[in-house]
Parts: sequence; structure tokens; C-alpha cells
Amino acid sequence: MTDYNWCHNPDCHKIETQSRVRGSGDNKVLRTVKIKSYSPDSIWTYFCNNNCLHQFLNKFPREIANIRPVNKPSESPIKVEKTKEESYIYRYSNGESRRVPYISTRTTISRVDND
Ligand SMILES: [Zn+2]
Repeated sequence: MTDYNWCHNPDCHKIETQSRVRGSGDNKVLRTVKIKSYSPDSIWTYFCNNNCLHQFLNKFPREIANIRPVNKPSESPIKVEKTKEESYIYRYSNGESRRVPYISTRTTISRVDND
């Protein structure tokens, strides 16, 4: 097994950076970036940077969506709780600030694990 991959962006070798230049004299080329692979589960084992990853995603959006089609929405059960609590705002007038109490509503969303 090899311990490296070539960047999977098909246009990686068209991006003009010093790090991609290979060859000598009049035989210079821009070459696809070689990536040392750390973990097969990391996206960075297949793409040399964010730019190449997004160029790839924008070039193959349908193919990527078809890897794991989503035909209906998913739902996560939650509990929404609204609580009232006393808070303060500051009102400025005539160069002075005054702390004015008011009742604020706090919304808390918590997960309900049914499984
Ligand atoms: Zn690349």
C-alpha cells in the first residue's frame, strides 16, 4: 500500500503555485500535489487544501449527492422550553444611563432521546 495519494481535484495541476512546479530548464510543469496519507477517514488524505476540495465538490455535485441520496427530511425529537426571566436594558438620556428592568423570554431547545 502506498503512503501517499495524488490530490483528487482534477484541476489541481492547473493552479499556479510554486509548490506545484516540477522539472528543470524549459521542461517545467505544474503537477498535481502529492499528499501524505495519515488516515483513510480524513478528507485531507484525498485533497491538498480547501480550494481543491471545493473545486472538486463544485465539479461533481450530482455524483456526490448520489453517494447518499436524501429523498425525505430527517427529524430529531426536541423539547422547546420558554422561560421568563428578569433582565436589564440601559437607557441613555441627558448624558446619563439608567438601568431599566424588563422581563425577557429565553428559549431552550433540548434533545429528546427516544432510542
Ligand atoms: Zn490539490
